[in-house]
Amino acid sequence: MQVIFMGLPGAGKGTQAERIVSEFGIPHISTGDMFRAAIAEQTELGMKAKSFMDQGQLVPDEVTIGIVRERLQKSDCEKGFLLDGFPRTLAQAEALDAMLSELGRNIDVVVNLHVAKENLLARLTGRRICKSCGATYHVVFNPPTTEGACDKCGGELYQRSDDTEDVVATRLDVNIKQSEPILAYYAEKGLVREVEGEQPIDEVYEQISSILRGVE
Ligand SMILES: [Zn+2]
Repeated sequence: MQVIFMGLPGAGKGTQAERIVSEFGIPHISTGDMFRAAIAEQTELGMKAKSFMDQGQLVPDEVTIGIVRERLQKSDCEKGFLLDGFPRTLAQAEALDAMLSELGRNIDVVVNLHVAKENLLARLTGRRICKSCGATYHVVFNPPTTEGACDKCGGELYQRSDDTEDVVATRLDVNIKQSEPILAYYAEKGLVREVEGEQPIDEVYEQISSILRGVE
């Protein structure tokens, strides 16, 4: 079962991915983890990727694709995989298809976890961090007992500069723009299944799980 998991930051992909991994026994493959592993193992492609990252440059698609290819050929991917954060561009989506068909595989389904931008803004801007001990809170979902103070150490809570509304809104817009052509590409192939991410976590998972059971 080859699955691509899409959704904006804050939509709750991480939580759902953990449950998918435990029910279906397929690995959760995120781009970040894949890069970190390739660099840690000092593979040729990992070293190439690192040299671009060290210079603050984007890793070219051919290097990224190569790293994905190596990852998908590992033994834990025999039953399938859950790709998260990849593909990020249309070119990567096309290259992924070409690579999978060489390996005699294909994408079965693209699950798009949808949460409205306004609600993501509320989720993503509500984070507060303790200046003293680093504990994290959320003004709505995980508030401290006393507003502005850490439950653990009494330290002062602050909002990180990249959690402010302007920064988060820009990040979401960039993500929306990036994902549109990829979703359109897979929609044309009839592979996209929309899941409403604004329901309770268990219901979201139930929906995802039934979609995946349908393609198994
Ligand atoms: Zn604290």
